[in-house]
Amino acid sequence: MQDEFVTLVIGKQKNVALIAHDSKKAEMIGWCEENKEILKKHFLCGTGTTARMITDKTGLPVRGYNSGPLGGDQQIGAKIVEGKVDFVVFFSDPLAAQPHDPDVKALLRIAQVYDIPIANNRATADFMIHSRLMDLEYDHEVINFRKSISDRANNL
Ligand code: PGA
Repeated sequence: MQDEFVTLVIGKQKNVALIAHDSKKAEMIGWCEENKEILKKHFLCGTGTTARMITDKTGLPVRGYNSGPLGGDQQIGAKIVEGKVDFVVFFSDPLAAQPHDPDVKALLRIAQVYDIPIANNRATADFMIHSRLMDLEYDHEVINFRKSISDRANNL
């Protein structure tokens, strides 16, 4: 019998996704600059404009996906599902409506499903990045998708 959960490992070197809504981009760049020495040790990616601006302003290498409103959040969500993104810093704007709000919600949801650390404000990001776990491997329990599929295929 397969277990309900599988243990996945977030490696020492994290796969960090960086996303900032327009009103938060300056804050994100400042945060990256402030934490550059730590961020340098990890693999960085982000939505298109955020990634480009961080690289331009801080020199950190950040792999850019599409711009958020054009599907970038969904690409990052897909990487979480594939186990290729395991740490997210997402400075979202709580005071402005976003055309891609469903994509933003989907990203938050999939990060929750896959038990991925996700910060959506600076204080949380500060606590996360200064955690001792940043330099360690971390085992976490994620729903066993193989079992879920076989259970559903047998029972539906
Ligand atoms: P952007 O996307 O980095 O391309 O601006 C971020 C977002 O609005 O989700």
